[in-house]
Formats: sequence, structure tokens, C-alpha cells
Amino acid sequence: MTTMYYDHDADLAALKGLHLAVLGYGSQGHAHALNLKDSGQQVCVGLREGSSSRSQAESEGLMVKTVAEAAAWGDIVMVLIPDQHQKKVYEAEIAPHLEAGNTLAFAHGFNIHYGQITAPPEVDVIMIAPKGPGHLVRRTFENGTGVPCLVAVHQDATGQAKNKALAWAKGIGGTRAGVIETNFKDETETDLFGEQAVLCGGSAELIKAGFETLVDAGYPPELAYFECLHEMKLIVDLYYEGGLARMNFSVSDTAEYGGLTRGKRIITDESRAAMKEILKEVQNGDFAREWIAENEKGQPNMTRLRQAEKDHPVEKIGRRLRKMMSWL
Ligand code: NAD
Ligand code: MG
Repeated sequence: MTTMYYDHDADLAALKGLHLAVLGYGSQGHAHALNLKDSGQQVCVGLREGSSSRSQAESEGLMVKTVAEAAAWGDIVMVLIPDQHQKKVYEAEIAPHLEAGNTLAFAHGFNIHYGQITAPPEVDVIMIAPKGPGHLVRRTFENGTGVPCLVAVHQDATGQAKNKALAWAKGIGGTRAGVIETNFKDETETDLFGEQAVLCGGSAELIKAGFETLVDAGYPPELAYFECLHEMKLIVDLYYEGGLARMNFSVSDTAEYGGLTRGKRIITDESRAAMKEILKEVQNGDFAREWIAENEKGQPNMTRLRQAEKDHPVEKIGRRLRKMMSWL
């Protein structure tokens, strides 16, 4: 079992007297900045000139500076802007302001692991990655609990890198739930594999294939939508609350038996071989190189694929049916 860290394993003293700069005020940024401020820390948010988040952050009681000013002010600089913009922002606005003993922090390992960002050796490089979206990190903190986090140390120039990472995790509420130590490689590779094979890629293709099978067989697309997309949430909520067992316990015996006997025909040896291939492309850097090049070209492939997804019949019928759902 991996070691778990809780509140009593982390000491906010590791952040004492330090300036904490949070770059970006999106999903993660607002949660880290507000939780740390409420934990008594000296926090500042770094935003682009003219950012629409400036007034929001200020009205929530935070000091706001430009990205470069915040990077200069910060002893710990947490980079919470989109992963594909981090390299440029790092080179232009962060790197010039890093001093010996400073800490560069991330919530995902992509840019460090794939060599897009290389910090000078006299700087600590750490990760604090909540295993949930920012609004949940904020909401649970306000309720006195927290979201589990991963922490990792890539570079320990001061000998204090891990203490700082654990203290940051405590300051955002993570150690209330439990923190797992990992490394940048494992966090990055499992994260990319999960979103590609299972969460985003796998589940969306499963939904579309099921929907198309029913519609092609002549069933009304409305029914196909409910069965293959809408009800996915009920099932996922059960997984989330109590694993596969809770799902199987909660559905009818007929559904359970049908699933147990038929599911393996959907995820076949071929699907498993494809998963291994996807993992290999994550591990050998092929996916990262492709994604970096795609961004350098202005995301032409992404734009085309997004449009195709938007035009899929399951999306067209969904936009209509969701109007019936007053609670959405
Ligand atoms: P986001 O898109 O919600 O927010 C990004 C913020 O950066 C916004 O405030 C945006 O205005 C700002 N920004 C965009 N481009 C910028 C630029 N060029 N210069 C300065 N600011 C810029 O992003 P997010 O989802 O909070 O992700 C931030 C980091 O957290 C990423 O590394 C991501 O992988 C990681 N992460 C996200 C989640 C999640 O659930 N969203 C969970 C764990 C880790
Ligand atoms: Mg992720």
C-alpha cells in the first residue's frame, strides 16, 4: 500500500513567511487561492492583462498581479493555467523571476514529465494534484472536508520540497481527505491513459456505438439517447459511491446478469490490445509530441474533431431532449 498523509502529517509551518503565487483563476486556480487564503496564508493571484477574472478574484478578497509580477513576488509559484500554454508563459513570465530556493508547483505533471519545462536546479519542483475539479476542492473545503490529492517532488533543491508540497495540500484541504505520494511520471501517464482509454475517449465511443446500434436497428433515437447516454450518470454515480458491487447491487438482477454475461463481448482482446497501444504512446512520448505539435499548428485536427462530435446524432437529439429536463 502507498503511504497516505493526513492533517497531522503535514505542517503549515513549511509555508511560514512564504509568498504563495497562484497563476490562473480557473477551475483549480480559484480553489487553491481561496483555500490557502482561508488557511491563513499570504496569497496572490497572477492573471493576464485584461483578464476577466481580475474583478472576481479581487471581490473575493485576493491580491491580483500580472503573471510576471506574481511570479516575481512568489516564493512558491503554482502554475494553474491550461497545460498547453504553460511552456510559453513559463519561458516569458516565470523563468526570469525564479530565484534559488523558490518552488515551482503544478497540479499535473505533463510539462515537467515531457520536458517542456525544465526548472533551474536551484529551484524545488513539486506537484499537488487534487483528484477532483476545482469547484469541489473549494466546496468541500468550505464544508470542513477536502478532496484527496496526489503530491510529488520532481526536484528538491532545498531539502524542504516534500514538506512544502504536504503543507500546500493541507492548506487546500487535501490532507483532511488524505494525500498519496507519487511521482510526475506515474501521475502524468496514468492521467493521460485514463482520460484517453476510459473516461473521455472510451466512454464517449461506447455511448456513440450503443446509440448507433439501436438507431440503425430502427429504434427511436429518443429511446437510444436515454438508454445509452442519459442513464450513464445513474451507473457512474453508483460506481463512484460504492464501486462495481454497488452498481450490481442496485440494478435489477436481469441487468446484472445481462451485464456480467455480455460485457466481456464489448471489451474484447482487441480492445485490450488497443489500450496497451494507447498506454505505450503515452509512455514513449508519441502522444505528447502529437499534442504539442497540434497546438503549435493552432489545433486544426482538434477543431475538425470537435465539429464532427457536435454534429453526431446523439448530440443533436440530446440538445432537444435536455430541454425536457428542468433540473439541468
Ligand atoms: P482552467 O482552464 O479552468 O483555468 C485556466 C486559467 O488560466 C484561467 O483563469 C485562464 O484565464 C488562465 N489562462 C489561460 N491562458 C493563460 C495564459 N496564457 N496566461 C495566463 N493565464 C492564462 O484550467 P484548470 O482546469 O484549472 O487547469 C489548471 C491546471 O490544473 C492544469 O495543469 C490541469 O491539468 C490541472 N488540473 C485540473 C483539474 C480539473 O479538474 N480541472 C484537476 C486536477 C489538475
Ligand atoms: Mg485529469
